[in-house]
Amino acid sequence: MKKILYPSLLALSVMGFSQTFTQEYKNRADLVLQTNLQTYNADLVSKGIRHLGSTASYTNYYSNNKAALDYIVAKLKTFGYTDADMVIQNVGTTAKPILNLILTKIGVDAQKKNTFVIMGGHFDSVAAGVGANDNLSGVAAILETARILKNVNTNYTVKFIFFNAEESGTYNGVSGGLFGSTQYANSLPNGTSIKVMFNLDMVGGNTSLTNNSITCEADKYNNVTTGTQSSNDAESLVMTTQLKNCVPLYSNLTGLFSNAYSSDYMPFENKGFVITGFYERMTDASGGVIEPNPTYHKSTDIAANVSYPYLVQTTKAALGAMQHFSEADTNSAVLATTEAKDFNNFKIYPNPAKEVINITVPNTDKYEITLIEPSGKVLIKDNNKKQINTSKLKNGIYYVILKTSKQSVFETVVIQK
Ligand SMILES: [Zn+2]
Repeated sequence: MKKILYPSLLALSVMGFSQTFTQEYKNRADLVLQTNLQTYNADLVSKGIRHLGSTASYTNYYSNNKAALDYIVAKLKTFGYTDADMVIQNVGTTAKPILNLILTKIGVDAQKKNTFVIMGGHFDSVAAGVGANDNLSGVAAILETARILKNVNTNYTVKFIFFNAEESGTYNGVSGGLFGSTQYANSLPNGTSIKVMFNLDMVGGNTSLTNNSITCEADKYNNVTTGTQSSNDAESLVMTTQLKNCVPLYSNLTGLFSNAYSSDYMPFENKGFVITGFYERMTDASGGVIEPNPTYHKSTDIAANVSYPYLVQTTKAALGAMQHFSEADTNSAVLATTEAKDFNNFKIYPNPAKEVINITVPNTDKYEITLIEPSGKVLIKDNNKKQINTSKLKNGIYYVILKTSKQSVFETVVIQK
């Protein structure tokens, strides 16, 4: 498939730390769909409160917690992942399981595949509410990233980890929360190599506030709450700078530095690994920073208060960063597609287009052509058409999806009148 160079992006090139804009990464970031993020979020919210509390109150929400885990597993399978790609790690006991889910995508470089790039976030909630933002926003972003990267080769091995019991009380004598991630980090064999652990906790913002920036969290301090190791601070700042640089390259947000604090990256920090993270940043009408989110750990942390357009942007930025960290393939423009070679004849022209798009299709009798907005909104859907009338569309980027009974493929098209 073709690469489209979108004119306004050509000005963005080198932005420190030898990091460059990669058109293919942007193309994939633009595949993030608001409808998908909202669906994952709503489906998981519908499982209810997923708090595992303490050893004593453990059973209250276990079935909700398990239902959420089952949903994530099932959703990953719809993306094409299999049981062989996933490990469900019980860090509790047989009677009172606490289940982390680890999805692994093996890298393709003979050396680098032995080092992990981890993207993680917790899927449990506090007892006060369902946690649509804390942290089903992060979970939705990870799911969408896993979907889009499914068939994309990366040099490093990528692990998507859905941590449990981040909001925990005291289990089996271990207090202070971060239970799932602590047990996971402690279970890693000596010699485990991690390039970076990228944590997402609360990335959905708030509909009543201005959401146009994101906090990029570096491991800058060394105390009990904010970390204990100093040997990994400099490298964390390097990774966090790269993360911050990715924000404007792959989203419309501004990235700002802050320090890592009390979430699932901390157990990794404590073991000496390099960490970074995303945490939402909101301002009021006068530009003052609102911290924390007014819904934080409250019953009001519901879908209606999450800004999904903002979540689209944080997910795009995260997806751009994950491709950068894992050294994703920059050549293949065909995504989530099998047997793409059969579709070599799929062409759309002219591109950029004005009033019409012409379509050349492979040798196939029946097919469906869909034209969608980046938000996922379907604008045109038709069968067996070789031309689409675009006279009513505004200037911008769209996707044309060709679907047959066997497979589908997409092409980016720019409308410019
Ligand atoms: Zn959280």
